[in-house]
Amino acid sequence: MTQPILLRGGRVVDPSRKIDAQQDVLLAAGLIEACGRGLAAPDGARVLDCAGMIVSPGFIDVHCHLREPGREDVETVATGARAAAAGGFTAVCAMPNTDPVTDNQAAVGFIIRQAQRAKAARVHPIGAISLGQRGEALAEFGEMIGAGAVAVSDDGRPVASAQLMRTALEYARTFNIPVIDHCEEPTLSHGGAMNEGIVSARLGLKGIPSEAEEIMVIRDILLARRTKGHVHLAHMSTVGSVELIRWGKERGINVTAEVCPHHLTLTEDRVGAYDTNAKMNPPLRTAADVAALRDAVADGTIDLIATDHAPHHYDEKEQEFANAPNGIVGLETALAVVHTKLVAGGVLDYPRLVERMSCAPARVFHLPGGTLERGAVADVTVFDPRAEWTVDPAAFLSKGRNTPYAGEKLHGRAIFTIVDGEIVYTMPNTTR
Ligand SMILES: [Zn+2]
Ligand SMILES: [Zn+2]
Repeated sequence: MTQPILLRGGRVVDPSRKIDAQQDVLLAAGLIEACGRGLAAPDGARVLDCAGMIVSPGFIDVHCHLREPGREDVETVATGARAAAAGGFTAVCAMPNTDPVTDNQAAVGFIIRQAQRAKAARVHPIGAISLGQRGEALAEFGEMIGAGAVAVSDDGRPVASAQLMRTALEYARTFNIPVIDHCEEPTLSHGGAMNEGIVSARLGLKGIPSEAEEIMVIRDILLARRTKGHVHLAHMSTVGSVELIRWGKERGINVTAEVCPHHLTLTEDRVGAYDTNAKMNPPLRTAADVAALRDAVADGTIDLIATDHAPHHYDEKEQEFANAPNGIVGLETALAVVHTKLVAGGVLDYPRLVERMSCAPARVFHLPGGTLERGAVADVTVFDPRAEWTVDPAAFLSKGRNTPYAGEKLHGRAIFTIVDGEIVYTMPNTTR
């Protein structure tokens, strides 16, 4: 039997119920039992002093790469789930571009069993759109969903065939799940290593134009209109994409979108002297793109923030820029980066931070959590907005070390991460 937990005296921020007030939260039997002022601790309850802390529904990352099966040397479901919990995430969705690809019932079941063993953040598997992510034949969505998949995606690879994407949207609609779109027109992005512009020209690197993303954004918004399927656009990076999403939403098309902390905080200049920790796909863009993405996440045109956590082996990132793999780790820095740069920067307030990182992910992907309503799962993040820390990749629980934020001073840190009413992460040296 789970010990009840009373979170006493924190600032409870729960946009799902329009709450932003000092309150207590009582968790019992894995569920939210009550929220309110002056709650009494039941017999045997553990009482955590949350004065000065933000208490919110647990953060949910709908986009990460946990590399298992196939590359357990760079991440496993267990290390990823622990890294997620350390970053304040109570749940994450794992992309299917593993080896072999998560494109069938058994593969989905494997991820779920590994996650249950880890006893950290929940891990919701995402199934592939196409068998082997080859872009030819659709995977069996019904079987994967039956085994626990919450969405489908060929992330890491664009769905080049518009006809296949159309069929995927039609088929996914019958199951009421999103099709997650890695928006990249492959003939335009081919061979590109960074944003196409003056910086790529100066560095002599082949660039990826904004249109490589935007052509797929509009193609798939139009296909969502045609099919009435739900398209979820991953890792948006350009002004043009924001305009197209706005266009789609104004017309009532079933489109949602995400943006990553790095695209909200860094520009192509970060590539500097060919730093592979600034190499990702889509690439870091210009200051004008960052400004548009910030506006879009503030006004809700972009629904949510996701990490695209992508661990790579040190040696693989230590190659020539053009040959290095794309991606950075993000689970343990996302909350602090967003808090430091966007909340302190005046772009988001606390309710909107929690909405974009907890409520919206739960709603858009139909996941448990995202609310502290009585009877909901007891998935809660307690974070200290004043905690200052310096990003030290060696201290990550993820096996990945590839981050452009190494050495940066951030403020805001998860103190307790609670899943199903159990504390799965406590920040070291916490004496509460
Ligand atoms: Zn992607
Ligand atoms: Zn990804």
